Amino acid sequence: MIRVNENYLKLKASYLFSDIAKRVAEFEKKNPGKEIIRLGIGDVTLPLPPACIAAMHRAVDDMASAKTFRGYGPEQGYDFLREKISEFDYRSRDVSISADEIFVSDGAKCDTGNIQELFAHEIVIAVPDPVYPVYVDTNVMAGRTGVNSDGRYSGLVYLDSTDANGFVPELPGEKVDLIYLCFPNNPTGATATKADLTKWVRYARENRALILYDAAYESFIRDDNIPRSIYEIEGADEVAVEFRSFSKTAGFTGTRCAFTVVPKKCRAYSATGEPVILHQLWLRRQTTKFNGVSYPVQRAAEAVYSDEGRRQVRELGDYYLENAARIRNGMKDIGFARYGGLNSPYIWVKGDRDSWALFDLMLEKAGVVCTPGAGFGKCGEGYIRISAFNSHENVDRALEKMSEALR
Ligand code: PLP
Repeated sequence: MIRVNENYLKLKASYLFSDIAKRVAEFEKKNPGKEIIRLGIGDVTLPLPPACIAAMHRAVDDMASAKTFRGYGPEQGYDFLREKISEFDYRSRDVSISADEIFVSDGAKCDTGNIQELFAHEIVIAVPDPVYPVYVDTNVMAGRTGVNSDGRYSGLVYLDSTDANGFVPELPGEKVDLIYLCFPNNPTGATATKADLTKWVRYARENRALILYDAAYESFIRDDNIPRSIYEIEGADEVAVEFRSFSKTAGFTGTRCAFTVVPKKCRAYSATGEPVILHQLWLRRQTTKFNGVSYPVQRAAEAVYSDEGRRQVRELGDYYLENAARIRNGMKDIGFARYGGLNSPYIWVKGDRDSWALFDLMLEKAGVVCTPGAGFGKCGEGYIRISAFNSHENVDRALEKMSEALR
């Protein structure tokens, strides 16, 4: 008898975005022809920057000639891209991360999901609440939790992110080994200061813990005082792995390219307490299970760092940040408390009822689709997430409709 991994049966039966799709489909059936504006799912709407498209075209031509054709590439990514990442994302900001500490991949989703394979079954894991669901679900699948009851899995340490702590969690009261952090945050849009991150790095160093730092939204940071990388904190390269993505930075959600930084100084420990170099483990994992990102896509990602690419990517970010500013103002005018949306494409809105009731209200009265905060964790109850990934016209229209219906 072929038996399943029982851990999969512990996963909460429904997936947030399919629940939302179901409610929207029902609404459409009941209200044929009624306009719906989607400010829910975190996918970008603008096309790839022209510099990336041109580079990708050139790379496709390379594949058409025996002289320039490329077959399997290095699993960790081509040096031409790793060098650019090291130079522009790190060394230019006085952060010493070398090209061979960078692992190019086809997504921060798979990397944040796969990395837990490197760690023991028994470790104590801390996850923020609300949270990007991948961190939790991949640990559930791996059997590191008990069952879900009342919206939380037993066996995990939840780090509450609330308006009381500015959505930046406090250090845990108990000792934890693996800590997931995400800034700018999905879903709250919160950012962490240097002092916040310093606290976490110190905790990790004192407790021989490891921080998994998801910086997928780093490119939306405009305030120079907000750290873009955890490695801006002294000593973080011994206790933190960082994840970045071209998805939101440069519109690669469908094209797929990201990278993970595993500094060579970063250690985990064997059962006998001997330090183990994490870089070697991740290299082993990637070379065994991953065969690299396609050559044209890596050339397109390289173009993000050209002069014109950097300018175009900045414009992309500015476009969505302008939406975020409009949403922040609009929600305030309607009378909601709202957070985030300043160095982030997400606005976290507090309502006067539970998340799904707020979602239904937005959909039924205004035809606007948002994401119920409760779908990201218990602390998300009472909130909705509004995404800035849309056109200015749709954002203005959505705000107009919400203002008419809800004010
Ligand atoms: N990390 C966070 C916090 C995200 O919100 C997302 C996507 O929404 C990802 C990672 C996934 O990024 P990628 O498209 O590179 O897989």
